[in-house]
Amino acid sequence: MFRLACGDVMPGCAARFEDETQQGLLGQVVEHAGAEHQITEITPEIQAAVESRIVRT
Ligand SMILES: [Zn+2]
Repeated sequence: MFRLACGDVMPGCAARFEDETQQGLLGQVVEHAGAEHQITEITPEIQAAVESRIVRT
């Protein structure tokens, strides 16, 4: 599984995500970022920050 704690990228956020694929996980993160953090454009910097925090278990 691929897991991500949003708080590792966005301090103070308690949301956590997990998915069987990295692509699926990123999809959840993108949706959450738009809904909760008003991030509508995933820049390469944001994507790199998110990917660096993904834990694979
Ligand atoms: Zn969040």
